[in-house]
Amino acid sequence: MHTRAELKGDKWVINGRKQFITNGYDAKLYIVYATTQPGAGITKGTSSFLVPRDTPGLTVQRCNETLGGRFMNNGEIVFEDCAVPKDHCLVENVAMSRAGVYFRPGKIIVAAKNLGVGMAAFERAADYVQNYVQGGRILLKHQAVAIRLADMATRLSAVRALLNEAIRAVNAGAHDAEALCNMAKMFASVEIFEVTKHAVELHGGNGIMLDFGVEKLLRDASLFMHRDATVDISRFKIVKSMFPQTAGVYAGPEK
Ligand SMILES: Cc1cc2nc3c(=O)[nH]c(=O)nc-3n(C[C@H](O)[C@H](O)[C@H](O)COP(=O)(O)OP(=O)(O)OC[C@H]3O[C@@H](n4cnc5c(N)ncnc54)[C@H](O)[C@@H]3O)c2cc1C
Repeated sequence: MHTRAELKGDKWVINGRKQFITNGYDAKLYIVYATTQPGAGITKGTSSFLVPRDTPGLTVQRCNETLGGRFMNNGEIVFEDCAVPKDHCLVENVAMSRAGVYFRPGKIIVAAKNLGVGMAAFERAADYVQNYVQGGRILLKHQAVAIRLADMATRLSAVRALLNEAIRAVNAGAHDAEALCNMAKMFASVEIFEVTKHAVELHGGNGIMLDFGVEKLLRDASLFMHRDATVDISRFKIVKSMFPQTAGVYAGPEK
């Protein structure tokens, strides 16, 4: 966490930069996380602040163009001696631990959205291969095509099953909820990227053409492997929550 906030008199003064912020380009009010206890670790030294867009020192520097998920904008925000009143601090020092309540359902929401992209890809591909004729018969009657469709359906069912397990674990307050949420999010991103890749390939050249809209699903699927933690960082988080005593040292961000 490079962004810092320091209490000076009756104001918190924020300095730093936030990149890749979803809807950050046109937001009117930001919740900003910043280090307030350097060296205390991210869970014990991070605070959250309410920062209105028109606060002096806050600059929305750019709107990033993205490969997928273009329905939402993506902004970069810079804070230069950006001062907010003391009472704009929402949670002091333990903001990241408190936000953990949100992080688990957050992973589930991301994985569920990701599953929706995969289902759309499957439905589009299933429709196409049952109607498009090549080599004298509909594509689905070519065994290699049928195998791909079966592979897509299997991956989707596996993602759905893991997602449901994670949901049940969160609802039950189970000890493995953390690991399962990260598993569901990570697994969905990898598998559904493959599902959308199959969908594009099964459409042949049409899959690449913007008119068909299948390439959009591949582009949308790609961003799930990065947002809310990369695939590898999610794997670290899984191991960390399974083996906190040993894996926490290298897998955790707190050192
Ligand atoms: C579409 C989109 C929306 C986003 N929205 C938001 C948002 O609203 N708010 C927000 O705060 N962030 C947001 N992000 C940022 C997102 O959370 C980060 O991009 C993501 O966590 C990866 O961080 P990074 O880009 O800095 O990659 P890096 O950390 O630089 O990683 C680069 C590569 O190195 C690997 N890597 C990094 N550290 C290690 C390590 N210790 N060991 C081994 N491998 C490592 C990663 O797995 C990755 O492959 C968004 C990103 C995207 C793509």
